[in-house]
Amino acid sequence: MAGAEVHTPANPTCKIMTFRPTMEEFKDFNKYLVYMESQGAHRAGLAKVIPPKGWKPRRTYDDIDDLVIDAPIQQMVAGQSGLFIQYNIQKKPLTVQEFRRLANSDMYCTPRYLNYEDLERKYWKNLTFVSPIYGADVSGSLYDEDVDEWNIAHLNSILDVIEEDCGVSIQGVNTPYLYFGMWKTTFSWHTEDMDLYSINYLHFGEPKSWYAIPPEHGKRLERLATGFFPSSIKGCEAFLRHKMTLISPSVLKKYGIPFDKITQEAGEFMITFPYGYHAGFNHGFNCAESTNFATLRWIDYGKVATQCTCSKDMVKISMEPFVKRFQPDRYANWMLGKDSTYIDHTLSTPSTTPELQSWLQRRRKTDSANKGLFPVVRMCLTTSDNVPTCFSQHCPEL
Ligand SMILES: [Zn+2]
Repeated sequence: MAGAEVHTPANPTCKIMTFRPTMEEFKDFNKYLVYMESQGAHRAGLAKVIPPKGWKPRRTYDDIDDLVIDAPIQQMVAGQSGLFIQYNIQKKPLTVQEFRRLANSDMYCTPRYLNYEDLERKYWKNLTFVSPIYGADVSGSLYDEDVDEWNIAHLNSILDVIEEDCGVSIQGVNTPYLYFGMWKTTFSWHTEDMDLYSINYLHFGEPKSWYAIPPEHGKRLERLATGFFPSSIKGCEAFLRHKMTLISPSVLKKYGIPFDKITQEAGEFMITFPYGYHAGFNHGFNCAESTNFATLRWIDYGKVATQCTCSKDMVKISMEPFVKRFQPDRYANWMLGKDSTYIDHTLSTPSTTPELQSWLQRRRKTDSANKGLFPVVRMCLTTSDNVPTCFSQHCPEL
């Protein structure tokens, strides 16, 4: 290896890392993400970021009582011994005020507990009993419009370009979603659509507990799940994308699947990384906001992301614009199906490349009003028929 740098990747134990940026470090989202990966944060699949003291995304939450949760879902859970399937039943619309009263009612409220470990035990013991209501997938943002730092609604500089190019928005993927939780509401084991990154901010309320599997061990979880649910894999090659599969930490332990856990408190961000399987539950009434985003490192993940083959309305993104723009040397081969994409999950995202530089430069010229928008890439959507859903005449893909 004469002349070659031999680099030992950071965070070899793949533990969930917590970051506390200063206000200065917090200003540039992309730059801080590059830093986090340089420290190996992505190897856990999940990281926590505690914003600097005094930072707030909204002046007050006292004015959202009349916000409507259009499609609350009742989460029915069936199973035993740490293996469960979750079914959603859609309920009638509720306002946030109605939802909060329901969440705090005797029927649905958090039980008494000693500590987070105790509450976790109660979760896995009781998750099949009273079926909680989740105010999930509410389109919108609670950020004040003038907030520039880590604004989930405006992370998406490069998406904005593709949006301009293609006129496409994918609800919850390149736009923010709000989630109103109550005790025992659950997100089951999944990676993001197209194995994108996600960002999640807990605006207020009770904590959210997370489990995460290092991306380098994600295939182990898939093999375990396939073994436990053999009929599901016959119906769909990527049934975990249905977000119905719950597997307890004790089962993961028993089968030697590496994982870590962490509890997110109000005012804290979580970042999930490409191909990082995660799952978790809410401790009580709370409100989170999230969306997806991408970096240059994501492009190879997007190319090989597994797809749900059984449903028409699953998110699929055409990778062509990304390969063409940011991997021009590989574009011709990739189009011929000769791209040999091998993913090293330990690699961190580059701070920049010549292609990104020139793309950003062009971007700055066309829109100087856009600020701080960096290798945060957004995507063109395709339908399940693999047809790019680009509606604008200006879309270079049409
Ligand atoms: Zn499917």
